[in-house]
Amino acid sequence: MGIGRTARTLPLLNQRAGFDCPGCAWPDPLAADGDRRKAAEFCENGAKAVAEEATIRRIGADFFARHSVAELAERTDYWLGQQGRLTQPMILRHGDDHYRPIGWDAAFDVIAENLAALGSPDEAAFYTSGRTSNEAAFAYQLLVRCFGTNNLPDCSNMCHESSGAALTETIGVGTGSVSLSDVEHADLVLVLGQNPGTNHPRMLSSLERVKHRGGRIVSVNPLPETGLRRFKNPQNLSGIVGSGTALADEFAQIRIGGDLALLKALSGLLVLADDEAPGWVLDHEFIEKHTHAFTEFAEQARDIDWAATERATGLERQQIERIARMLVESDRTVVCWAMGLTQHKQAVATIREVVNLLLLRGMIGKPGAGVCPVRGHSNVQGDRTMGIYEKMPESFLHALEREFGVTVPRAHGRDTVEVLRGMHEGRIKALVAMGGNFAAATPDTEVTERALRGCALTVHVSTKLNRSHVVPGNTALILPTLGRTERDGQESGEQFVTVEDSMSVVHASRGRLRPASDHLLSEVAIVSRLARRLLGAQHPVRWEEFERDYDVIRDHIARVVPGCEDYNQRVRQPDGFVMPHPPRDSRTFPTESGRANFTVNVPEPVEVPDGRLLLQTLRSHDQYNTTIYGLSDRYRGIEDARRVVLVNADDIAALGFADGDLVDVVSEWMAAHGGVEERRASRFRIVAYPTARGCAAAYYPEANPLVPLGAVAEKSNTPVSKAVVVRLEPQSQSRLRSARVSPARSR
Ligand code: SF4
Repeated sequence: MGIGRTARTLPLLNQRAGFDCPGCAWPDPLAADGDRRKAAEFCENGAKAVAEEATIRRIGADFFARHSVAELAERTDYWLGQQGRLTQPMILRHGDDHYRPIGWDAAFDVIAENLAALGSPDEAAFYTSGRTSNEAAFAYQLLVRCFGTNNLPDCSNMCHESSGAALTETIGVGTGSVSLSDVEHADLVLVLGQNPGTNHPRMLSSLERVKHRGGRIVSVNPLPETGLRRFKNPQNLSGIVGSGTALADEFAQIRIGGDLALLKALSGLLVLADDEAPGWVLDHEFIEKHTHAFTEFAEQARDIDWAATERATGLERQQIERIARMLVESDRTVVCWAMGLTQHKQAVATIREVVNLLLLRGMIGKPGAGVCPVRGHSNVQGDRTMGIYEKMPESFLHALEREFGVTVPRAHGRDTVEVLRGMHEGRIKALVAMGGNFAAATPDTEVTERALRGCALTVHVSTKLNRSHVVPGNTALILPTLGRTERDGQESGEQFVTVEDSMSVVHASRGRLRPASDHLLSEVAIVSRLARRLLGAQHPVRWEEFERDYDVIRDHIARVVPGCEDYNQRVRQPDGFVMPHPPRDSRTFPTESGRANFTVNVPEPVEVPDGRLLLQTLRSHDQYNTTIYGLSDRYRGIEDARRVVLVNADDIAALGFADGDLVDVVSEWMAAHGGVEERRASRFRIVAYPTARGCAAAYYPEANPLVPLGAVAEKSNTPVSKAVVVRLEPQSQSRLRSARVSPARSR
């Protein structure tokens, strides 16, 4: 960004008069939290996210004239991302191997003509990444539904869809029930399948506050993540000169996919303990007043099969009993989780079991207690609230029709995996992506790339170059848009947008930097102009008004989206407003039973044949989703390498390999047709790492080719990226010298 630009920009990050971090969705401190927003209210990865967007590097027509698509496709994701901000619309016409500049109107003509030429609107899919603002998301879903389809896949399909499905079924609302203050006032925080040190770093400050208040933390993870061991907070003297704060009081190094068995055993221990001392452990008043199906649940919970539990979890009974005692001694328990729970076959069952555990002691709708799925994308929750979902309820669709005098489709659309399947089968012929990096974020890379190349049209609204741009359809367009850090001037003046964080706080974000190019359009302007071109000038929705003044969109949101009444007034409050959450707000559970539902979930641990490992895909510390900031995964002691597979040293020896060997990683998956499907990812260096025995890890998107399209979670259809059975095959050139691995990892 350069020094001057950095000095002007970072002080605005996560500030009330500034812009929301384009990184994760960890909330900002509110006035209610004692108004302790820091001058530097951001973490290292937030600064990197801003630097990526506000870079001074630029690419335009000359860049694309120099680089053919075929040449660009050979480049790494890291290299592509480092080329700079896109500055003008580009088109790749059928048969050409270079992107060429195109005017905005001509671009919208091409898109509209291709979409209109489809046999049905359901042959198109409209993807959304979690960076899209509420205003753009609301306008986009309206455009898509007015076009005639509900094919609105989004990045949530690949991350917290399982959380939404489980929470909606059990407590009636698909989002977390805690505020930042609840987390920080909990006396026990369970962190399951999450690495906040890399993926939600400001969360460490909150965990530090839990510790300073005498609270305890339990970390459950197949990997000993540094960020959950000790935190040196750079905002405190003790963090700079001292040894910082020890975080996890208990680290349960669980076997991949063992969380369901662990949670069931913990619930069983609580029920059995209460049998010994009725009313001393379980919150019977809460259970009787607010829950459903406790008796059936308790019956099966008491029957703990310890041999199966220890096998599935890889944990000893003593440790599980220790954690159960911590739960019994806790008055305010919060359970936080991320992809380590959501990207498994039984992810929904596992998260239902989290709810069971908390219901037993009345830990929902209580200050300092509750469920906390931590979102990885800054506005993924807001986009869903605005209607970016392929299965919106009738009430929402009816409200749209009433508000705009339009007719919208009722047939549910396709989520991301179904869109990929549809492309593969030739039933989806066009993809329009609002942000994101569809080709790299999705599983089964070779299948995905073939499917994308088979499309008649691919359109990406982007700020920077990425893999998806070099996996084009017959006709491909890149539409450059404003970043979150940039001023958004429209006819009525400078605009602000709104986002919703992981704790349901909706607040404003105002870009301050001069746009990277005069040829950029905002997301809202792109949607508005495409709608006018696609739906015609006589369409009942006043699209041009959306672009002229975002208040117009917000007034519509206020009348259509539940919980968003008086939207314009309330988002102008310094801290915005908090979306309603009946379980949190009033212990009201809008479920089918009208109560919080206990559920019975039966673990089916993944069978791993001899000589195989169970692999999870994950981020390095130097990446954000598919954006690679750099090649330094320093907390794991890995530098200058991304094609690495982390394996326990004892497993390496048992498999007859050595640290540093070069291998192909081959996944094996029992397909629905009963045969074993294989996927290969070549040239990975084995890195000896203290993973749980039998478990391995590799970075995505490099490991995404190993996750077959059909490997999805029950109910949520989320790709099973955290539990892939793999074998390692030796490579002829056995060792890779380039990567540097410091002894840090042996700690
Ligand atoms: S914790 Fe997340 S939202 Fe906060 S500054 Fe870091 S990346 Fe951004």
